Amino acid sequence: MIFDAHMHIGGVFGIFTANICAEHMLSIMDDFNISYGFVTAASSSLNHNLKLINEVSKFSNRLFGFYWVNPKRSSILDEVSKALDYGFVGVKFRPETDGYNLFNISLLDPILSYACKMGMLVYIHCSGYGASHPNALRLICSTYPELKVIIGHMAQGSVDAIRVAEDFDNVFLETSTYRGFKVIEYAVNRIGSDRVLFGSDYPYSNIQMEISKIMNLRVSWDDKIKIMGLNSLSLLSSKPLLKELFNLPY
Ligand SMILES: [Zn+2]
Repeated sequence: MIFDAHMHIGGVFGIFTANICAEHMLSIMDDFNISYGFVTAASSSLNHNLKLINEVSKFSNRLFGFYWVNPKRSSILDEVSKALDYGFVGVKFRPETDGYNLFNISLLDPILSYACKMGMLVYIHCSGYGASHPNALRLICSTYPELKVIIGHMAQGSVDAIRVAEDFDNVFLETSTYRGFKVIEYAVNRIGSDRVLFGSDYPYSNIQMEISKIMNLRVSWDDKIKIMGLNSLSLLSSKPLLKELFNLPY
């Protein structure tokens, strides 16, 4: 079972242009035997997030939405609350593109407190330096110890991110777009395989390459099974929606 912890739906522009709808996403997932995905929008704009809500709602048994928040928008809590009504399971932050700093905890507090209260997951795009330096995660994780925080792209292999994950067991490392397989192996050796998540960052990265990267790690088969899917699935296991979908007894 493969669970992709990071994919995008919607319009993607720049060096290439794509407009990903849910049907396209499902057909790509089927091509690679990906059962489930955490999906976010193409930007933090309201329009992109509304499109995401619309698309994810079509296949809510396989796609799980992460609302891409811009904490500077005054309506943001209302927006997240609406997304939660539609079954969204998390919020995503990307400080660089939205012009704020992850260390600005007072700006993030309303959303993080709300995520804590409602049991939402938090995905943070982490470049490994500057506005999304992984050390900011220390402040976030110690302030909100019950929050489950996913460090996107493993902060591009930053040793600081691995240290944060060593010190806080509510931190997860997502592997998309980071190519340093030795550092991924190092992370598994340091924190174990339970908190490393396979992600593809589709359509920004190549799914086959991202899968091969994990499958070629020098870690055990059991570790690979957890990284490729079980760990992301377990992040959802307390969610009422998932209990309903899989008939879980707890
Ligand atoms: Zn992404």
